Amino acid sequence: MNKKCNKCEREFPLSHFHKVKNKSDGRRNTCPDCRKIHEKQKLSSNLDKNKEGWDKNEIFALRQLRLNGLSYPIIANILKRSVGSIQQKSFKLGLTTQNKSEENLISLRIMNSSIPLTQR
Ligand SMILES: [Zn+2]
Repeated sequence: MNKKCNKCEREFPLSHFHKVKNKSDGRRNTCPDCRKIHEKQKLSSNLDKNKEGWDKNEIFALRQLRLNGLSYPIIANILKRSVGSIQQKSFKLGLTTQNKSEENLISLRIMNSSIPLTQR
C-alpha cells in the first residue's frame, strides 16, 4: 500500500512514513525528506526571530535613552519597537523608572533637541 506525501506528492510505501498516533492511517502525511526540509525551515525562521532580538547597538541606545530619562513610548518610537518590548527589555536591564512625571518632562525636552545618544 502506497501513500502520497502531501508536500512533494511523491508516492512511497506506507512504511516509509514516520509513525504518528493521531492520524487515521497511523503515519505522517509528509515523507521524511519533506519533514527534514520543514524542520530546517522552522529552524531558520527561528533564527530570523532571534535576529529580531536586541543587538548590542540597540541595547546601548536603550540604555542611553533610559539613562536620559526618556519614557517607554518615546523610546519605542525612536527604536521602532513596541512599547511592550521596550518595557520588557528595560526591566531585564534594570532600567526601571523612579519618577514618571520628571521622566516625561526630560523626554519632552530631549525630543525637542536632537539626541546625542553617546553623550550624557
Ligand atoms: Zn515529500
